Amino acid sequence: MEQTKTYLSETVNALKPSGIRRFFDLAAGIEGVISLGVGEPDFVTSWSVREAAILSLEQGYTSYTANAGLLELREEISAYMEKGFHVTYSPKKEIIVTVGASQALDIALRAIIDAGDEVIVIEPCFVSYAPLVALAGGKPVTVQTKKENDFKITAEELEQAITNRTKAVILCSPNNPTGTMLNRHDLEEIAAVAKKYNLLILSDEIYAELSYDEKFVSLAAIEGMRERTILISGFSKGFAMTGWRLGFVCAPEEITQAMLKIHQYAIMCAPTMAQYAAVEALKNGQEDVIGMRKDYRRRRNYFVQSLNEIGLECHVPGGAFYAFPSVQSTGLTSEQFAERLLLEEKVAVVPGDVFGESGQGHIRCSYASSMEQLQEAVKRMKRFVERI
Ligand code: PMP
Repeated sequence: MEQTKTYLSETVNALKPSGIRRFFDLAAGIEGVISLGVGEPDFVTSWSVREAAILSLEQGYTSYTANAGLLELREEISAYMEKGFHVTYSPKKEIIVTVGASQALDIALRAIIDAGDEVIVIEPCFVSYAPLVALAGGKPVTVQTKKENDFKITAEELEQAITNRTKAVILCSPNNPTGTMLNRHDLEEIAAVAKKYNLLILSDEIYAELSYDEKFVSLAAIEGMRERTILISGFSKGFAMTGWRLGFVCAPEEITQAMLKIHQYAIMCAPTMAQYAAVEALKNGQEDVIGMRKDYRRRRNYFVQSLNEIGLECHVPGGAFYAFPSVQSTGLTSEQFAERLLLEEKVAVVPGDVFGESGQGHIRCSYASSMEQLQEAVKRMKRFVERI
């Protein structure tokens, strides 16, 4: 029978698949590839955390939890945020446990956007932001940051993107893909703009545990920002728990309760065994987090220095586990560089432009790999750069 119509929504039809996927498909068909492509820890979740999940299953805790998550976990999250980040949130009213930071982003946007509302997306950034804004019925307005500013947004750049339809800004520090971390001064500049224009900020703090040179500052801890911040975080990165699919959101009651309505209809609750694991991660997991942070820092120092030595200029990323070197000296575009590096030297990286226009001329390399893998990758990249 002839297909006469599409059943898909216009919004979904207009979404482009993530540019990262093409590279994974390409790399999957090649043997002996060193992958610096994926954005996840190479560590396995701590044994005591895995054991807590196993114990919960042995005890038969296999039912739904409260919609917002186990109260015990929300209490642990509240204590963790207060102790580590100097922000105070009520476990009963202002915290929701979500299916990764991804779901927290999704329900936050759906809770605040009316059709046509604009949300400012600062690029280069995590590939999901703009599509999630569009899926919520909003209009993503992208702003490009500059390499000269270490990819930090300035108050002027932010102000220029604001219109009378602007509702919110999505901010991410430490950043994926640039690794840039915003310090207190940077956050204060952004906060002043948010206050002046009465904007809400979705602060994606998923990499908060992975800051290497300065202490991480939460946007919600900046004066006057708590009431206009939706703080999104989770266990995937700092606690090496990507596969558990567990995140959380902290925000003023009005916002969390609106988000909870969507969460209860669409998801019900985050997975129960993962929640028991997360309680253990927060109670006893800090030592392992500190150990992993030390290891990433060592790898970052080696890898970023090596990139600069082989002629791929790279600022020192303050956090996360990404290096974002420039490949402009090679005369290749991001995509050409990434594709040829993969085919000729079997090293997988991600072209910078998939994270936004200003990522052109760069590549994202994840250094969440063993030192041996990083050393081999550097050897191959050096050979490649010298050849071209
Ligand atoms: N935000 C950023 C900036 C990320 O890099 C990622 C994962 N790549 C996420 C959110 C999603 O994390 P989660 O696994 O908690 O859904």
